[in-house]
Amino acid sequence: MSKGRLVIISGPSGSGKDTILKKVLKSLPELKFSISSVTRPMREGEVEGEKYNFVSREYFEHMIKNDMLLEYNNYIGNYYGTPKAPVEEVIENGGEIVLEIDVNGQQNIKRLVDSSLSIFIMPPSVEVLRARLAGRGTDSEEVIEKRMTSALKEIECAKNYDYIVVNDDLDSAVEDFITIIKADRLNTERQNKIIDEVLEKC
Ligand code: 5GP
Repeated sequence: MSKGRLVIISGPSGSGKDTILKKVLKSLPELKFSISSVTRPMREGEVEGEKYNFVSREYFEHMIKNDMLLEYNNYIGNYYGTPKAPVEEVIENGGEIVLEIDVNGQQNIKRLVDSSLSIFIMPPSVEVLRARLAGRGTDSEEVIEKRMTSALKEIECAKNYDYIVVNDDLDSAVEDFITIIKADRLNTERQNKIIDEVLEKC
């Protein structure tokens, strides 16, 4: 996998990464999104095939066995994974695809692919994070506590990412994200071809 660009976005549940990503994908429609397969129940407001394909545990294990996943993880008792084929297709065609995955997934991807761009979405504080999780009203108190414990561990992993975007103000966070994507497109490593093309015309 070398032609296109794999972009990883992570951040604790409640960091606002979904909202940021939705706005980024609207501004940069050429950016593709990798739909994960997941065994957790669908939350209210979620749509099959939008962010996730909701699958049975049996089917997920079939995907693991048949090497259909680029990476996967078990998060709070449920499987989450990135189907391999759609990602490979975009990359082979020189496109860019965003994977919204957890910190373990990012480490696995780093081991698997030569180069990727990783961005961590950071909440401005733990208090803000807790208030956002409770305010969603979609999870039980027990799940919120599990998500908070997981969030603190995830925040420690932010040091493994290329960039950190603090989501204090949504518009600024979206702008920061887009700036990173655009700057990355100008990265010398990604523009090797242009050097040869310009020199060829001398
Ligand atoms: P949620 O249940 O809040 O939708 O997601 C829980 C966590 O799973 C989030 O950190 C999210 O980024 C992560 N996640 C979603 N899809 C994938 C995936 O395909 N692989 C991995 N490793 N993590 C994922």
